[in-house]
Amino acid sequence: MERIIASVEGSLDGPLMILVGGIHGNEISGVRAAEDVLNTLTLNSVPLRGRVIGIRGNLQALEIDKRYVDHDLNRSWIKEMVNRAYENPDATAENQEVIEILDFFDSLPVRAHAPKILVDLHSTSSEKGDFIIIPEDESKNPIVKALSLPIIIDLNKHLEGTLLQYMHERDYVSFAFEGGAVGTDEAHPLHVSGIWELLYAAGMISQETRNTYSRYDQYITQHHLELPKRVSVLYHHKVKSDHQFNMKPGYHNFMYVKKGEVLAEDRQGEIRAVHDGMIFMPLYQNEGDDGFFIVKEVE
Ligand SMILES: [Zn+2]
Repeated sequence: MERIIASVEGSLDGPLMILVGGIHGNEISGVRAAEDVLNTLTLNSVPLRGRVIGIRGNLQALEIDKRYVDHDLNRSWIKEMVNRAYENPDATAENQEVIEILDFFDSLPVRAHAPKILVDLHSTSSEKGDFIIIPEDESKNPIVKALSLPIIIDLNKHLEGTLLQYMHERDYVSFAFEGGAVGTDEAHPLHVSGIWELLYAAGMISQETRNTYSRYDQYITQHHLELPKRVSVLYHHKVKSDHQFNMKPGYHNFMYVKKGEVLAEDRQGEIRAVHDGMIFMPLYQNEGDDGFFIVKEVE
């Protein structure tokens, strides 16, 4: 499996957009979507400003269809962990992935493109999982708003070591584009059309091109229009690995919960909501450290 899916350079100068798929190896939708869009750009010689590059995230985890091999690659972008990866590349599968991905970013010309945009394509383990995670200071960026999905403005503060935070500090407009549930058919077309919308919002393709390839309007349903536009995290329930966390069935993103409501249970008993708010990213898979979040809508 190759790191780079494809790289397409337009005939005119413009932004650099990096599409990352499969930073979690069981989230194949983003890889397929990046492949689709890059194939279309190449085969149809679509007029393009700037450059689009697709890369695969966790190659070794993608090969075995697991979230990760030794540790979560999207929690590994902390300076100390990155330093340790360079000191001991063979210690974990993800150390090798970190080094290879940074080698890729380091190989890009420093000043050739502006702005630099990183789109980290994910899917979630719960239903109705279409949303954007972005650092607050970039959250009003028109490129991101073009997706018309809920924007979580401070989740990056609760998820330490994400690629998007690391690249944010390297002056990329970086965000996670979560496109629906793992293993369903909803994520792929949403990601494909969403990428076309992003290319258009970044001024990299014409309106005509966007109208030809994007079906985004079909995926942004009444359900999406009723979702909150901007939300902030009130509470983060972290899962301890030996605690047998078990989310109660039936929760999905942005569902209202009441303080005191039993949301989950683990070895120590019932886990109740500590705030009124909306449930966010309830964990319905065996892998992962974040049980759920409670969020609220903000201006
Ligand atoms: Zn993911």
